[in-house]
Amino acid sequence: MPHAVKIDRPRSVDLSEIPQGAPDGTDKDEALERTAELGKELSELQETLFYAGKHALLIVLQGMDTSGKDGTIRHLLNFSNVQSTRVAAFKVPTPNELAHDFLWRVHDHTPGKGCITVFNRSHYEDVLVVRVHDLVPKDVWKRRYDHINAFERLVSDSGTLILKFFLHISKEEQEERLLEREQDVEKAWKLSVGDWKERELWKDYQEAYEDAIGKCAAPEAPWFIVPANQKWYRNLAVTEAVVEALRPLKDGWLRSLDEVGKKAKAELEQYRSTTS
Ligand code: ATP
Repeated sequence: MPHAVKIDRPRSVDLSEIPQGAPDGTDKDEALERTAELGKELSELQETLFYAGKHALLIVLQGMDTSGKDGTIRHLLNFSNVQSTRVAAFKVPTPNELAHDFLWRVHDHTPGKGCITVFNRSHYEDVLVVRVHDLVPKDVWKRRYDHINAFERLVSDSGTLILKFFLHISKEEQEERLLEREQDVEKAWKLSVGDWKERELWKDYQEAYEDAIGKCAAPEAPWFIVPANQKWYRNLAVTEAVVEALRPLKDGWLRSLDEVGKKAKAELEQYRSTTS
C-alpha cells in the first residue's frame, strides 16, 4: 500500500481526514530498511535518467513551516548526482519578480532533460501565502489555478515528470518543532517570530492548501499528501513516490542508451576499418 495519498484528478480535499502521522503499528526499522532499498533504486534511476536524457523530473515541496522541506531535500540529495540535480528555493519575490507574471521566475528553474530540480516552495505560494495574506485581490489569485494547470501541462508536455508533495504535519507537531528549535543552539538561526504569527493562520493555510491541491491535480502533475509527523515515514513516502514514478520509464531509457551504444560501436568499427 502506498505511504502517501496520491491525488491526480481535480476533486475536493479535506486535509483533516488525512492522517499526519504514520499508521499505528508501522515498524520504524522496517520502514528505514525499505527506504534504504528504495534509495538505492532511486540512485540508479536518476543515473539512467541523466545519461538517457529523455525526460526531466520536477519535484515540488510544499508544507507549513517546520513541515520538513529542508530535511526532505537533504534526504533526496543522498541519492542524487550533483551533476544533474538542483534545488530552487522560492522566497518573497523581489521587486523585479513582482513586476512580472507570477510564473516568470519559476519557468527558468524547471529542469532540462536528464536533470532533476527540487522546488523548495514554488509557484503554489502564489495561491497560498498570497491568498492568506490578501497580497493580491481575490479575483487575481483565483485565476491562478488555471494558469498553474496550463503551465504544468506545458512543462509536462516537454518531457518533464512533475511530482508535488504536501508535507502534512499536525498543528501540535509544529508547536513541538518550533519549541525544539528554541532549545537547540544549532538551530537558533532558524528561529523566527514570523513562524508563530503564521501559525495563527493555520486554518486559512489548510483551506488554501485544500484548494491548491484539489484544483491543481492532474495525472501528469499529481499531488502526494505525505503524513509527515515522523521524519522516517515522510522519507519513505516521498522516496517511494519518486521511485514509482520513474521506474516505468527505465526500460525505455535503457533501450535508447543501448541504441546509442550500438551506433557508437558501429561508427568506431567503420573508423577502424578505414584506418587499418
Ligand atoms: P524554513 O521553512 O526552513 O523555515 P522557509 O522556506 O520558510 O524556510 P524563508 O526564507 O524563511 O524560508 O521563507 C521564505 C518565505 O517566502 C516564506 O514565508 C514564503 O511564504 C515566502 N514566499 C515565497 N513565495 C512567495 C510569494 N510568491 N509571495 C509572497 N511570499 C512568498
